[in-house]
Amino acid sequence: MSTTVPPEIAERTRTLRALLHRWGYAYYVLDALEVSDAIYDQHYRELVELESRYPELVSPDSPTRRVGERPAPAFVSVTHRVPMFSLENAFSQAELEKWGERLVREIGPDLEFVCELKIDGSATALSYENGVLVRGATRGDGVEGEEITQNLRTIRAIPLKLLGGEMPSVLEVRGEAFIPRDEFERINQERQAAGEKLFANPRNACAGTLRQLDSRVVAARRLGFFAYTAHFGCAQSQWEALAELESHGFRVNPHRSLCRDLAEVRTFCEHWEHHRHALPYDTDGVVVKVNAFDHQREVGFTSKFPRWAIAFKYPAEEKSTVVEAIAVQVGRTGALTPVAELQPVTVAGTTVSRATLHNQDRIESLDVRVGDTVIVRKAGEIIPEVVRVIGELRPPEAVPYVFPQTCPECGTAVVRAPGEVAVRCPNPRCPALVRGKLGHWCAALEIDGIGDKLIARLVSLGLVHTVADLYELSAEQLAGLERLGARSAAKIVEQLDRSRHQPWSRVLYGLGLRHIGASVSVELARAFPSAAALAQADLAAIASLYGFGEELARSVVEWFAQAENRELLERLEAHGLQLAGGERAAQSSALSGLTFVITGTLPTLSREECTALIESCGGKVTSSVSSRTSYVVAGEKAGSKLARAQELKVAVLDEEQLRALIETRETP
Ligand code: NAD
Repeated sequence: MSTTVPPEIAERTRTLRALLHRWGYAYYVLDALEVSDAIYDQHYRELVELESRYPELVSPDSPTRRVGERPAPAFVSVTHRVPMFSLENAFSQAELEKWGERLVREIGPDLEFVCELKIDGSATALSYENGVLVRGATRGDGVEGEEITQNLRTIRAIPLKLLGGEMPSVLEVRGEAFIPRDEFERINQERQAAGEKLFANPRNACAGTLRQLDSRVVAARRLGFFAYTAHFGCAQSQWEALAELESHGFRVNPHRSLCRDLAEVRTFCEHWEHHRHALPYDTDGVVVKVNAFDHQREVGFTSKFPRWAIAFKYPAEEKSTVVEAIAVQVGRTGALTPVAELQPVTVAGTTVSRATLHNQDRIESLDVRVGDTVIVRKAGEIIPEVVRVIGELRPPEAVPYVFPQTCPECGTAVVRAPGEVAVRCPNPRCPALVRGKLGHWCAALEIDGIGDKLIARLVSLGLVHTVADLYELSAEQLAGLERLGARSAAKIVEQLDRSRHQPWSRVLYGLGLRHIGASVSVELARAFPSAAALAQADLAAIASLYGFGEELARSVVEWFAQAENRELLERLEAHGLQLAGGERAAQSSALSGLTFVITGTLPTLSREECTALIESCGGKVTSSVSSRTSYVVAGEKAGSKLARAQELKVAVLDEEQLRALIETRETP
């Protein structure tokens, strides 16, 4: 431990405190989130670490010294009979185990734990006298809260009068009030329709609702409540207390577990990390508590937390980190995409060192600069993105970012079409565009073995300029390239050969016209069964196809108007690629208008066969599940797509049910 605090550390501590105070006030008092909990927790942790490394920095007004904020003046303050504590956090299994092992060493091997879901709502205190609810309050700063009895009385899961026989004359119950996800959606829809500000998340909506001055507003929203703490004379442990709460008419969360050791605790946490999204309400972790009250008393409290409980929090989907550089990537359409190169940080369990900044407008509106501390988010399978800059943490020397005026790959002056967000390199021979087009072609025509590295090499050696050039490569030429043996080279040539059998729709998709994705290509190829037919189609004919519109049609017409594109088609035809037909024509219309997603291994059909079956009946197959998916066809080992289908309540079929569906729709 040091006695002299470096000035930059003292400064950082001051900045962190100011930030945490502001965010805490917004969160606890104004119910207006400024940043996510994960970002708050990350900075809070940093402050805790600095204060423990330099104890002379500790001051009584530090956010690490207190729970929550003082109640807002609009409410009557009440002093809690028993203070309401916050919980220490564990952000990894390792931290959770360290906490548990220390307690096992202190108490002995018969220490038991109770695991409960950490419901993401508002901590609430209820006071009962002779079995009747007399007062309800928010947690406030833990010592004083706000009296919200009228509001809490509207929650159906809170008994106004307790059930059962004997009970203490004065009973303090603690629990979590929350808003289920579907109710949250409903409230926000209602607010949107009324032109009111939307709630950021269900927790925020719950806190905002409980602090309504008009309890009729609260009554109109369906809040839930789970009780988790009470001291009945008869219960000797948390596990017994939960059962006792249930017997007196409270709702206690059914997903709880009495664990004999830390391995069981770990199993519970891991299970809910993967299953929590299926619950109808938000949870942000698991609360692990020492079971026996005797043991709880033995380990006691720190100044802020009980030592006998900890909140295990799931990996955050948002973190803050520092921008080390801003690079610009050029894609196959020539669009320049700015990318932040970051100090590596773990987000949602994976290391993130780059995050997209989307485009010039976005980078300017975010005002991201090299050296800035930014918030990065990674939700689900989406690429990480920069959400915002934490202005207070900007170094004084940071200068505004200037978007390049020339292409970073080929030096051509960039252009921005009126009404478009993308800034593009207009040079069709730009190596970045060529590489992007080749990569897209290989993916679209399922040509394996030609990865990014090989493409970059082929382009830099000047061997390939367009996708047609690929078909002129010989195995000898390829084998001569660095680290590519004769066998791999022969395989690549074989793959290229196979791509000659791909239908016209795939070739069209592979050409990478703007706005023409895989499924649009299939529909275009159906309406215009050859390149010649499509080349002759006019704007109106394409735009009038169902769901197409002008922008898409213009992209096709403009592409065919360019001589070099027509030349490319001629060369591809000469190389034996299919510029007509090859489509499987729909044999029935049993599935027309329906969209399917296939996942897992089906008993008799391969993925391709199943796609062909659906398409031959007029149905559409897409790769990701959304609210527009009609059915998910699932086989064995179906993964996240099945989970997503369940979440969105999309009907799931097995292979047999798919066949039955076709049959019933075929027979009128
Ligand atoms: P906490 O939310 O980490 O944990 C304690 C709370 O857990 C309890 O008060 C209770 O409400 C809840 N809980 C849910 N289920 C429970 C159960 N079964 N048993 C016991 N408790 C249960 O801590 P906190 O002190 O309430 O709040 C601090 C946290 O709030 C921070 O870690 C941060 O995530 C968030 N916060 C966010 C901001 C922001 O700006 N986003 C600001 C301040 C605080």
